[in-house]
Amino acid sequence: MSRLRITGARLLDPASGRDELGSLDVEDGRIVALGREPAGVPDEVFEANGLWLAPGFVDLHTHLREPGQEYKEDIETGTRSAAAGGYTLVCCMANTDPVNDSPAVTEYIQRRARESGNVRVRVIAAATQGLRGEIMSEMAGLAAAGAVAFSDDGSVIMDAAVMRRVLEYARGIGRPVIAHCEDLNLRGAGVVHEGSHATCCGLPGSPGEAETVMVARDLELARLTGAHLHVAHVSAARSVELIREAKTAGVRVTAEVTPHHLFLTDEEIRGYDTNKKMAPPLRTARDREALRQGLADGTLDCIATDHAPHAHYEKDVEFVAAPFGVVGLETSLSIGLELVREDVLSPLALIDRMSTRPARVFGVGGGTLEPGAPADLVLVDPERSYKVEVSGLESRSKNSAFLGRELSGRALRTWVGGRIAFALDEEGSR
Ligand SMILES: [Zn+2]
Repeated sequence: MSRLRITGARLLDPASGRDELGSLDVEDGRIVALGREPAGVPDEVFEANGLWLAPGFVDLHTHLREPGQEYKEDIETGTRSAAAGGYTLVCCMANTDPVNDSPAVTEYIQRRARESGNVRVRVIAAATQGLRGEIMSEMAGLAAAGAVAFSDDGSVIMDAAVMRRVLEYARGIGRPVIAHCEDLNLRGAGVVHEGSHATCCGLPGSPGEAETVMVARDLELARLTGAHLHVAHVSAARSVELIREAKTAGVRVTAEVTPHHLFLTDEEIRGYDTNKKMAPPLRTARDREALRQGLADGTLDCIATDHAPHAHYEKDVEFVAAPFGVVGLETSLSIGLELVREDVLSPLALIDRMSTRPARVFGVGGGTLEPGAPADLVLVDPERSYKVEVSGLESRSKNSAFLGRELSGRALRTWVGGRIAFALDEEGSR
């Protein structure tokens, strides 16, 4: 097998703290050497011209929609979208049709991912049967079939006793439970954040407390059971405080935040654009600031996209009637780089929150440039600017909250196991 050397790159490896100009060698799908002057003779040389070379991104929260909703997305298009965003591994949620609550569905998704996936896919299985929040799924069997975590994301386990049992079983089989924290009674008919913008727009609001009361409950249950709780898409300032306190107290909790919650506020809803409708909703500038601080100090472990494709005709309806969710795999790097430009994160910290930490949170591998690791890599041009347009998105669905915006920084090339999974051509089209 030939040896590829990527030379003249800014190597960013949070796992070792490395941030230096150098080269990286790939052979047989693995990283075999790196540093200023790696030993060995390459067969092929790729000149990186000072661009960033980092471990490929790992998304803990992707909706691939297959099986059952292929008109929104399928494993082929979803993983193509991931590769275009610099991701080399995505974890897919269980709210498919049928729901991924049986080993047969888990195995089906894994087989389809091997056949048509452009990046690695790990499977998150349902915590309860049919996502109904009543009876636990066959968790041990699902874990044996390959499930890396459990979640009813897309719906909520409202019954605390059921959540307790789920956490107890998950602890027993060594898997995290991902909680979509929204009290559905408190949310009621709310479709946006409860506040002056909701009032002005005449849209029903959902308070931040719809999230925080559930975060508080689940932190208590994690403490009680000793299980690993992973809080999905944190949106409220108070949630960050609660998670910070719980971490200090030794509760096994990790958490993620989405690019849209890090970048946008509820002011966005004034245009009634249904591509700004997601659950949890965009909140206030104060909340956004707390999320940024939480990500910077490590209270929030990682950036996760909550990539949630919906067809154009589904979103092209009245705001209250549209489904919740936005796509995110292809724009998250640019949003992350915005945090670097604003001095919230260093370049190394950004790669840590998008690759190294998420890989560790679910123990899915990757997230490092160390020799011996799979050559899952992304080449980043932090300055490359582009306009987010429907025609530029690889996802089958185009419901991006950032359509029409000029963003800066993108993945130029993505390698999965040493194979090129994505390459942006010279003109910037693909
Ligand atoms: Zn969710």
